Amino acid sequence: MPTFGNAQLKLLERLCNVIAISGDESEVRKIVLEEVKPYADEVKVDALGNVLATKHGRGRKRTRVMLDAHMDEVGFMIVDEDGEGLYRFEIVGGIDARHLVGKQVLVGKERAPGVIGAKPIHLMSGDEYTRKVPLDALRIDVGLSGKAKVGDRAGFATRFRRVGPSILSKSIDDRIGVATLIELLKRVPSSIDLCAAFSVQEEIGLRGARVAAQYFHPDMAIAIDSTPANDLPLHDASENMTYNTKLGLVPAIYVADGSTLHDPRLVRFLQEIAESEKIPYQIRQPGGGGTDSGAIQRSLAGIPTVSVSVPHRYTHSPISIARVDDWKHTINLLHAALQRITSELLLVR
Ligand SMILES: [Zn+2]
Repeated sequence: MPTFGNAQLKLLERLCNVIAISGDESEVRKIVLEEVKPYADEVKVDALGNVLATKHGRGRKRTRVMLDAHMDEVGFMIVDEDGEGLYRFEIVGGIDARHLVGKQVLVGKERAPGVIGAKPIHLMSGDEYTRKVPLDALRIDVGLSGKAKVGDRAGFATRFRRVGPSILSKSIDDRIGVATLIELLKRVPSSIDLCAAFSVQEEIGLRGARVAAQYFHPDMAIAIDSTPANDLPLHDASENMTYNTKLGLVPAIYVADGSTLHDPRLVRFLQEIAESEKIPYQIRQPGGGGTDSGAIQRSLAGIPTVSVSVPHRYTHSPISIARVDDWKHTINLLHAALQRITSELLLVR
């Protein structure tokens, strides 16, 4: 099993604390390049900004296995300036606008501190207490200090924290996948060619992964991501039947999501590995949002694809919570799976 401890958590902390809104992933890319160069045989940055790292195996009949994790996170783009340090913005990726009021952000290349302001409760009247504030009524306020340009990105200012068995951070989606992929690249079995795609622009339509799959031409692929755990008790005390995944039970193996019917051979293979290695796992409830698997599976003439995710609560918000052990089990499952992949795996449907 791979080593897991402070070094891995420190790497995740570095990855979570930088900002990489879709289309502007340079800060994560810099860390990824630093981390993968000592372990990969080839490393390339393509036209979109994907980091494509290959580790060649030895011997005949090697399976080309693509592993994907997306570098980008949800955030904001500055679209207009109102003067007085106030900026209009659009949301990049899926964020519930109700999460935004009162949140701290960092704006532009200079990372100017700002806040998404709102009318104070003292001055509200009528239905203002209950009404959703429309996005075009919100502004990012940098307090006259920073200077932003149209097209600049802004991201949540949350800092990574380790609290007992949990991680509290922004962008666990999908820095935890990026950190997982870096760890896996350190110990690739010689029976496969590992094609590692650190992809861009997942949050705005799985754009980088599609190009990465075309570059690698893999025999199979696994998208490593994080998925919502909607496992809180319901306010009416009935049983929560639509939790998607639960914390503390991971990894989450996908059967079907909004963009992919995952390859049943690969789903079964991962379950068998987990059972034989005594690694706990859960099957993510079918449906809901997708991962890069949706783009990879439909690239070229079709690629057998599966997804594995680390669950986390409060996805696409300023702060999410995941469990350290859930992440460790995810790395262990994928590591064990890589050791056991053979060309026979995909022979029979
Ligand atoms: Zn994601």
